[in-house]
Amino acid sequence: MSRVATSFSVELPHWLPTFISSSPTHFSSAEERVRLAVELAKHNVVNGTGGPFGAAIFELDSGKLVGVGVNRVVPGNCSIAHAEMMAFATTQNALQTFDLGSSNLPNHQLATSAAMCAMCLGATVWSGVKSVLISARKEDVESLTGFDEGPVHPTWAEQLVGRGIAVTQDVIRDEGRKVLQLYSEGNGVVYNGRSA
Ligand SMILES: [Zn+2]
Repeated sequence: MSRVATSFSVELPHWLPTFISSSPTHFSSAEERVRLAVELAKHNVVNGTGGPFGAAIFELDSGKLVGVGVNRVVPGNCSIAHAEMMAFATTQNALQTFDLGSSNLPNHQLATSAAMCAMCLGATVWSGVKSVLISARKEDVESLTGFDEGPVHPTWAEQLVGRGIAVTQDVIRDEGRKVLQLYSEGNGVVYNGRSA
């Protein structure tokens, strides 16, 4: 083995293939799309396979589910393995593209169980998605779990819109909050806080 690592991989959890095989192939409404992301987050908590966050990527118009992610920071020994990052990476790998906004592809939409952190906001811009749907808010994450969302700019939503990415917040927000609460009640690990 080399002294310095030259590759890495982070696996999604063992329960995910079964979960996906029993879910619909298409999700028509914003609520249905976000509910899938929230359900992924909940399964991750209940199975003890990572932090309380889930994400899914859909074709914007058809509602076809094209990729999913859940938080894998602790089990994967990887600080960047947030749900949204995993969803972008697995979807781009599946579609064999580095840009989900390519002109030869249908438009794509991210649905996430909680507002993106500082890192995932950047990744959202680079991913090529044209739309994001969000359940719980940043303040829900921070007040209910103690996780640090990082240096998120107050005008983040306007900045995404300015880059052609539509933003819809508070989609079934209470359901997203419940998963955060569930994790907190189970004394889930809160890692990597670097609050100023
Ligand atoms: Zn993140």
